[in-house]
Amino acid sequence: VIDPLNLVGIEVVAGESARIIARAPGLPDDLFEHDGQLTKREVRAVTLSALAPRRGEMLWDIGAGAGSVAIEWMLADPSLRAIAIEERAARAARVRRNAASLGTPGLKVIEGRAPQVLGGLPVPDAIFIGGGAGDDGVVDAALAALRPGGRLVVNAVTLETEARLISLHAARGGELVRLSIARAVPVGGLTGWRPAMPVTQWSWTK
Ligand code: SAH
Repeated sequence: VIDPLNLVGIEVVAGESARIIARAPGLPDDLFEHDGQLTKREVRAVTLSALAPRRGEMLWDIGAGAGSVAIEWMLADPSLRAIAIEERAARAARVRRNAASLGTPGLKVIEGRAPQVLGGLPVPDAIFIGGGAGDDGVVDAALAALRPGGRLVVNAVTLETEARLISLHAARGGELVRLSIARAVPVGGLTGWRPAMPVTQWSWTK
């Protein structure tokens, strides 16, 4: 039982079995069904902050994976709309399941490859590229589609995509940030830091 906006005080109604969804972005990873392709909690929180949702806005989540960024965008306010674009059928189906189970059934999911499937979609106020930034034409299509004043946020884990973000930053400005997260895990009987792959994030306002 889910009540993302805590409207009906569901903890009282449903007791121990209820899942209460927090209002702040950066939900726990295990709330999402995923196959490993998931923007991790801390990086996701920073990503939503950079996307900066404002009432009534539309997000394109390109390379949506499990859909976590589009879902958290929609959870930020009931007026927010989003379109998730994901080329792999199994993942697109997973985005739909996650959207249904986390309380954002209005998320529109497009199964297909960017940039080809982007034509004709409603003009976005913000675009997140979590996959496909290295593919020809994806960043160009995003730059062109965004409304003036809109925000583009691109995350990269590979050196090849990072290199593109470095040249985009040099050519167009914006902000380039590198996020390194480590999590404490058991090491023998003790505890040590397990680093996640660093994420390079370029944010730009049109
Ligand atoms: N932000 C997501 C994870 C993204 S993983 C989340 O937190 O759930 C990157 C995804 O991009 C993968 O699922 C991959 O299939 C998809 N992808 C890569 N290139 C793409 C393209 N050109 N068009 C559509 N999807 C693409």
